[in-house]
Amino acid sequence: MSAKVWLVGAGPGDPELLTLKAVRAMGEAQVVLIDDLVNPAVLEHCPNARVIPVGKRGGCRSTPQAFIHRLMLRYARQGKCVVRLKGGDPCIFGRGGEEAEWLAERGIEVELVNGITAGLAGATQCGISLTQRGVARGVTLVTAHTLDGSSPEWHALAKTGTTLVVYMGVSSLQQVQAGLMEGGLPASTPVAMIENASLPQQRECRSDLGDMCTDAARFQLKSPAILVIGEVAAKAVTQVLSQIA
Ligand code: SAH
Repeated sequence: MSAKVWLVGAGPGDPELLTLKAVRAMGEAQVVLIDDLVNPAVLEHCPNARVIPVGKRGGCRSTPQAFIHRLMLRYARQGKCVVRLKGGDPCIFGRGGEEAEWLAERGIEVELVNGITAGLAGATQCGISLTQRGVARGVTLVTAHTLDGSSPEWHALAKTGTTLVVYMGVSSLQQVQAGLMEGGLPASTPVAMIENASLPQQRECRSDLGDMCTDAARFQLKSPAILVIGEVAAKAVTQVLSQIA
């Protein structure tokens, strides 16, 4: 493999959800820059690489994005094979697009490798079929946390007839709830909140739009979690009671 940067999705956590291509890239990597949402267990596929954590959580101060850019550039210019490993998919709320553009502008070859995004994995792990025929006519992946602090158009999203999969929503549950209800979604709309999807510590809390905030508080829902909002999230609703009690 010639010197380049691979922007690789490590999937939601379960190492078995890695793609073969991700495993190949990791196997050839000399340097791996790893985000903190990546399950360290996947690092068994890059035994010879220098692994550099550049995560933004775990009590540490964020690694500035500009610093990550420069690290990738430096190693690529040294002729090293660099893998930038991200949780889920690199281009779903993962800054993969920004990083790819930045590197390409500097003449670095970049290859993107899909990963399974947390929203899709979380739903599947709970048996939710996001676009169940006759129930949902599509699925919308949306973040509750935007760069400029503005809210998504919850009113408009309420009217799409699609299942809503909300990333980074744990600290904005009230805004999500209020926006969607004001937009016309009934309080009875099913909601599934899935924490640590695909990991051994995965937990799920089933609720509905009207009760999601109180249920999440009782459940002590923590990040990382995704919300699945829509009729498809009604499956196995009985689990709510047993898990919350
Ligand atoms: N690129 C990632 C998303 C990064 S944004 C992807 O495609 O999955 C970070 C958000 O992703 C978290 O706040 C949470 O909403 C979600 N997330 C990431 N991993 C998760 C997991 N294992 N379980 C539930 N949500 C997760």
